[in-house]
Amino acid sequence: MTLIIDCHGHYTVLPKAHDAWREEQKAAYKEGRTPSPYPEISDEEIRETIEQNQLKLIQERGADLTLFSPRASAMAHHVGDQQVSEEWARRCNDLIYRVTQLFPETFVGGCMLPQSPKADLTASIKELRRCVEELGFVGCNLNPDPGGGHFEHPPLTDEYWFPIYETMCELDVPAMIHVSGSCNPAMHATGGFYLAADTVAFMQLLQGDLFSRFPNLRFIIPHGGGAVPYHWGRYRGLADMLKQPSLDEHLMNNVFFDTCVYHQPGVDLLAEVIDTKNILFGSEMVGAVRGIDPQTGHYFDDTKRYVDALPIDESAKHMIFEGNARRVYPRLDAKLKERGL
Ligand SMILES: [Zn+2]
Repeated sequence: MTLIIDCHGHYTVLPKAHDAWREEQKAAYKEGRTPSPYPEISDEEIRETIEQNQLKLIQERGADLTLFSPRASAMAHHVGDQQVSEEWARRCNDLIYRVTQLFPETFVGGCMLPQSPKADLTASIKELRRCVEELGFVGCNLNPDPGGGHFEHPPLTDEYWFPIYETMCELDVPAMIHVSGSCNPAMHATGGFYLAADTVAFMQLLQGDLFSRFPNLRFIIPHGGGAVPYHWGRYRGLADMLKQPSLDEHLMNNVFFDTCVYHQPGVDLLAEVIDTKNILFGSEMVGAVRGIDPQTGHYFDDTKRYVDALPIDESAKHMIFEGNARRVYPRLDAKLKERGL
């Protein structure tokens, strides 16, 4: 039997009071005052948002377990300052924790980090530790461009990032490279910024030598790896021209792509070009694209359908749905083993 593990889910439909408090927090920052206290949110409200959205779809589509993190577009690291980000991240991660307690069979936590454009990573490291050690989360989302669409941060291979890599390696948790909302009108968030950032991140890793310094560091590049699998020949050629080792030894022991590609030919290409060991099942639902594909009559983001239809054998499917996720997220593997799975 294969467990269907979705490595990419966000809490996108939230209790109204949580979203309202964020607006209050932003207004308070602008006006230079302390925000009103965070509201009480009942288990019932959380239950309702999950049952009517993610849980319903998970059950309809036949997944078993989702790695669940705060709504990515609302991380909005570019808003406010370090303190604003810190409190927002804590509230969002605490809600995720409550979801994992209310639905322990179905949701395992991934955290957002309180990154902020002008800050170092001290607060992010602290929150990562809290989420992993106290809340039982198994991974995090790391934003390579917390400025929100201007790409002004140093590349992921720069030593600016090393302190959090050290903590990730110590805790043995991977990061999904995941940008947030765009404040650049030239860059649509989910259609432009997300895919651009995925592609840019891969090229940064190709140019650098990060994994010889951090051999256990692991990144999931979401949305099918951006444009990377489609342009695999370009990246192989660039590695050669830049006198870097082949992609297989240089990057592909540490970098993984999910299956958040919303049509069959895209998932076919991903599976044909990229080694099975580097592909993790993901859907990012309910997220960027919520409609039904008129060509197929199915939801665009029902990605399990595309993986099911791949012309690969059962052991390869097992790796994509379960095995790779257990290897990339050892803390998830440990949780499943505790449950006898
Ligand atoms: Zn996402």
